[in-house]
Amino acid sequence: MPDLWLPGAERYPLSDTAPTDDEYPPKGLWHITWDKNASAAKPAPLVPFNNLVKYFTGAGKASAPHLLWDPFTGRVAQFYPASSRSKSVADRPGGTRTNRAGKVLIQVEQLFFPHCQVGGKAYATMRDTPAKGLGEILDWMRSWGVPDVWPMGAPTWRSNRDEVTWATRGGHYGHSQVPENDHTDPGPMPAWPGAKPSPLAPVFPGRGRFGPGKANGDVLRLGQQLVKRGFGKHYKVGPSRSWGEADRLNVEAFQRAQGWTGTGADGYPGPETWRRLFN
Ligand SMILES: [Zn+2]
Repeated sequence: MPDLWLPGAERYPLSDTAPTDDEYPPKGLWHITWDKNASAAKPAPLVPFNNLVKYFTGAGKASAPHLLWDPFTGRVAQFYPASSRSKSVADRPGGTRTNRAGKVLIQVEQLFFPHCQVGGKAYATMRDTPAKGLGEILDWMRSWGVPDVWPMGAPTWRSNRDEVTWATRGGHYGHSQVPENDHTDPGPMPAWPGAKPSPLAPVFPGRGRFGPGKANGDVLRLGQQLVKRGFGKHYKVGPSRSWGEADRLNVEAFQRAQGWTGTGADGYPGPETWRRLFN
C-alpha cells in the first residue's frame, strides 16, 4: 500500500476519519485558503501557516482538508490519512457524497489568496507562485492512482460542475468544479510538474487560423471547447467553422477568467490560451 501520510509532511491527525466511496475513480481536489480579500491596488501579507494549522485543528475542524500546503516555502501539514475522507467541500443530502466520491479523494488547501504579498512581491494567482513542493505532493497522489489530468479542464475563476464527469473520471478537480458547491477557488493553478500532456489535447494550430475572415475546422474546435468549458454565452446559435465576433468575445471571457488583462485578453487564442483550454 502507498504511504498514508505524505513523506515529509507535519502530522496533525484528526480523530474522526471515515472511509471514502471507493467505487469512484481516484481524485485530487484543490482549494485556496482565501482567508483575506486583497486587490491589485491593495495587496495584503500572506496569513501565517501556523494560524491555519491552528484553525484546521480547532475552530475550522469541520472543514479540514488532507493537506495544508504553503507554495512559497513548501511546508505541508496533514490532517487526515489518504485512506480517509476529509471535509473541505459542502455536501448536500442526497446525490454525490462530495467529500468521499473517490477511491481516494485527497483535498489540498493551498495557503493563498489573490494579491497576497510575500517578500515584498504580490501574487495574483496560484499560477504565479513558486509552487515549492508541488512535485512531491503530486508524486504522492500518483502513488494513490490519481492521474495527471483535469477532467473538467484546468481551473479558472469560473465554475463548471458537471456531475457526470465528476462521477466517472479520475484526476484533479478544483473546488469550482465540485457539484453541490458554490466556491470558485482555486483559480488558475501552476502547471503540473512531470505531467504528460493529455493525449486528447490538440496541438495549437497557430494564430493565423483565427480571426476575421477565417473559416476552418480549428475555429469550430475552438468554439466547441469553449462551450464545453462554460464559455459559450456569446454564441446565438452555436460554434461554427467561420470566425465571428462571438468567438472573439468567448475567448476574451476565457482569457479574463485566467486573470489576464490588456493584450492578454484580446479574444484571439495564442498557445497558452489553447493549452489551458484543452488541458
Ligand atoms: Zn475551497
